[in-house]
Amino acid sequence: MQLNANKKPQGQYGIIGWPLGHTKSPLLHNWGLKESSLPGVYVPWPTEPAKLKAFMAEARARHIRGVSVTIPHKQAVMPYLDGLTDRARAVGAVNTLFWREGKLMGDNTDVLGIVKPLLDRKDGLKTALVLGAGGAARAACAALSELGVPDIAVANRTAAKATALAVDFGLRAVPWEERAGSPWSLVVNTTPLGMLGEHQNESPWPSDGFAGVGLVFDFVYNPVRTRLMAEAQEAGVACLSGLSMFLHQGLAQFELWTGKKLDERRARQVLMADMALTGG
Ligand code: NAP
Repeated sequence: MQLNANKKPQGQYGIIGWPLGHTKSPLLHNWGLKESSLPGVYVPWPTEPAKLKAFMAEARARHIRGVSVTIPHKQAVMPYLDGLTDRARAVGAVNTLFWREGKLMGDNTDVLGIVKPLLDRKDGLKTALVLGAGGAARAACAALSELGVPDIAVANRTAAKATALAVDFGLRAVPWEERAGSPWSLVVNTTPLGMLGEHQNESPWPSDGFAGVGLVFDFVYNPVRTRLMAEAQEAGVACLSGLSMFLHQGLAQFELWTGKKLDERRARQVLMADMALTGG
C-alpha cells in the first residue's frame, strides 16, 4: 500500500482502483479540504485486486478518514466493511468508505449524484430508459427507483445483462435494437460511448431518434459535452452532463468524511476550469 506514513492518519483520504487512470477526485477533494481549512490530503492509491485485502487492513489500522472506491473494487470491498447504507445495499456496490461511531461503513454516493440533478424535474419523469447494464447502470436504476419514476427500462448491447439487471430491480428490459422506439421522458447513458479516447466520436443513440425524448442524462463527463449531448441539443432535447453526477457524488463523499457542505457552484467551476485546461 502506498499510504504516506509521514501524513497524519486522521487527515488521509484517497481513491482506490485498478488501473486507476486519470481521476478528477483528487482535484475536487483537495480543493474542498483547502476551502474548508481542513488538514489533510487526498491521493490516488492504485490498488491491484490481489492487494485489496492488505489495503483494507491498513486503512482500518490507520483509521484512514475517507476512501473513494472505483473499478474493480466496488463490490469486492463489501466483505471488509462493518456495515452498508441503504443506498449501497440497493445498488449492491460501494463507492465510498467512511467511519460512523467506530464502524467502517460503505455508501454509494453515485446514487445521490444521479438523484440530485434530477430532483427538480422528477414530476416530469414518467418513463426512463437506462442504456447499459454495468455498475453505473445499477446506480441509475436505484436512483430512478428512489425518485419514484413509474416506468423504468434497461437496454444493453448484451441482452442477458439487461434482463438480469431488470430482474434485480423489478424493471423491464428492452432490446438494444429497439431502444429508440418510444417517447422516453428520460434517456440515461451509462455506456462509455462518447468518452474521451477510442469512443469519443460514438453515441449510444441514433441521431434521428430523439422524437418524444424529454431529457438526456449522459454519465460520461469527459468531455463535458459528448456527441450524444450535441445531437440531443440539436434536436431540441435538454441534457444533463455526467459532470453533474461526478460533482454531486463527490460533494456527498466530502460531507460524509468531514461533515462540511462545499459550495456547489464553486466546486463546479473548479472542475470546469480543469476540464478546459485538459481539453475535456
Ligand atoms: P461497466 O460496468 O464496464 O459497464 C459498461 C456498460 O457499457 C456495459 O453494459 C456494456 O455493455 C456497455 N458498453 C460498453 N461498450 C459498449 C459499446 N461499444 N456499445 C454499446 N454498449 C457498450 O462500466 P460502469 O462502471 O457501469 O461505467 C460506465 C460509464 O459510466 C463509464 O464509462 C463512465 O463514463 C460513466 N460513469 C460516470 C460517473 C460520473 O460520476 N459521471 C460515475 C461512474 C461511471 P456489455 O454488457 O454488452 O459489455
